[in-house]
Amino acid sequence: TDLSKIRNFSIIAHIDHGKSTLADRMIQVCGGLTDREMKEQVLDNMELERERGITIKAQTVRLEYKAKDGETYILNLMDTPGHVDFAYEVSRSLAACEGALLVVDASQGVEAQTLANVYLALDGDLELLPVLNKIDLPAAEPERVRTQIEDVIGIDASGALEISAKTGIGIQDVLEAVVTDLPAPVGDPNAKLQAMLVDSWYDPYLGVIILVRVVEGTLKKGAKVRMMSTGRTHDVDRVGVFTPKHVMVNELGPGEMGFITASIKSVHDCKVGDTITYEKDPADAALPGFKPSVPVVFCGLFPVDASDFEYLRESLGKLALNDASFKYDTESSAALGFGFRCGFLGLLHLEIIQERLNREFDLDLISTAPSVVYRMGMTDGTEQELHNPVDYPDVTKIKWIEEPWIKATIMVPDEFLGPVLTLCTERRGEQVDLTYVGNRAMVVYNLPLNEVVFDFYDRLKSISKGYASFDYEIVGYREGDLVKVQILINSDPVDALAMIVHRSQAEYRGRQICARLKDLIPRQLFKVALQAAIGGKVIARETVGALRKDVTAKCYGGDITRKRKLLEKQKEGKKRMRQFGKVEIPQSAFLEALKMG
Ligand code: GDP
Ligand code: MG
Repeated sequence: TDLSKIRNFSIIAHIDHGKSTLADRMIQVCGGLTDREMKEQVLDNMELERERGITIKAQTVRLEYKAKDGETYILNLMDTPGHVDFAYEVSRSLAACEGALLVVDASQGVEAQTLANVYLALDGDLELLPVLNKIDLPAAEPERVRTQIEDVIGIDASGALEISAKTGIGIQDVLEAVVTDLPAPVGDPNAKLQAMLVDSWYDPYLGVIILVRVVEGTLKKGAKVRMMSTGRTHDVDRVGVFTPKHVMVNELGPGEMGFITASIKSVHDCKVGDTITYEKDPADAALPGFKPSVPVVFCGLFPVDASDFEYLRESLGKLALNDASFKYDTESSAALGFGFRCGFLGLLHLEIIQERLNREFDLDLISTAPSVVYRMGMTDGTEQELHNPVDYPDVTKIKWIEEPWIKATIMVPDEFLGPVLTLCTERRGEQVDLTYVGNRAMVVYNLPLNEVVFDFYDRLKSISKGYASFDYEIVGYREGDLVKVQILINSDPVDALAMIVHRSQAEYRGRQICARLKDLIPRQLFKVALQAAIGGKVIARETVGALRKDVTAKCYGGDITRKRKLLEKQKEGKKRMRQFGKVEIPQSAFLEALKMG
């Protein structure tokens, strides 16, 4: 293939700015699908997106476009994962491209995710082509947004195309600009093979499908390849491209994108960013930028109905089949029974997995408050990671403890700036930057991730009436005065409610959770003491008063069916009770208490 006739690009955009619509339009214009197939394709996509919450897997479509210069070009359009939780995966998808369309909704303007994605693209030295979408909307202000792109992002937007992915205005110009303004790939078909593993997923018919971008050399069907990070070898049994239908080919040359299968059973053998080379005559070095993905947020997932435990295990296994970055391990809790400690790339990843378990597997689950990964230096000189507050060691053995910090970018209309700044300050934030773009403020804060996993999104949404957009990246670990707060019910610690917090927040959080539990725990025949404590020191307390009368007393002598009903109701409730010493607490109380974080 003539490299000068190939263009590899992706589309980056804030959510809802029109990425999928534009991609579908381009597929349609290039005739990758008939109208009927197009409908199916679009539906398929939606189904997948729904299944995944958002795009998690990178996908590519190979299009043929006959340009105005009379030549036919191969356009490889790569759909990148939709969220910065998957920043590393996004960065690898972008690394497979030479350029990107930067789509901005002309009625909305630049948002936090636009910026986060732009930074990733600029890190990867991609050529950016700004596109103003939704100009059909009366509220569209292309001129204002053009200036905003120049001010905020600092790229020339004077030539930005004005399009409507919905009505089709300007799509041809976009395709033409991809050909004329984005660089062609370079590479030597006879060099030693270096192909980047962009993504992988499990297909019930073909096994693991690997999405690759060949950088140097030629990847051929039938060859034995080696994954450079693990050293494992596999026989390539299929090579193909997506048009978006699977079309088999014999080889992929440098600059090409496509897929291979190699009878691989698990996506865990296929690490995003890894380099694939030949077993014989391998490349001297792997491609730069490989990083094994590590979970940063953990939580416990427990079935509401204990008999669902094995089914939950099975379901987690199925999800993990397709998601190499999702980790899980069994865990047991006095309050919640048997469940799993799960690791995620970020909060959104966690939400997606929870959502899928609920929707696709119909599982009713309780999750414990998300916790970040702490690092601890011990007095005996060793270091360890803490994934679960329950495992917090004896304080006297801890020399120091560090927590992850993020750099958060928040974009918010001027009128909501005050409360946003207050929220960030309350959460131990340090302001890094504050700039204005028209009537929108862009604030950058360094924040402890610990404070963000605790209802930060919800608060941000409510104080900005939904207008704030938020994105973050992890910047590193810092030492902090972090303590374990335990919640005690009649002196028994409830493991599921234990949390690691900054000392300055301990009392407030402890008091909040005790007050909440007080309302949630039904009265018993005796008083129930609720306490929050750091080590042996109680920092907050509440009491649930004793119940005076038998529940059925008031029906005494009355309607017998009513009495029976009441007893039955009680029995029903019993199933969901958890025993704490002599205190019985409905599981729903924990669920509610956990909801607030
Ligand atoms: P994505 O999240 O970036 O993939 O955004 P989508 O492509 O899913 O689009 C989000 C919403 O905006 C959908 O309801 C689209 O129909 C709508 N949309 C996309 N492009 C346009 C456009 O050019 N004009 C208008 N009016 N709506 C659009
Ligand atoms: Mg989309």
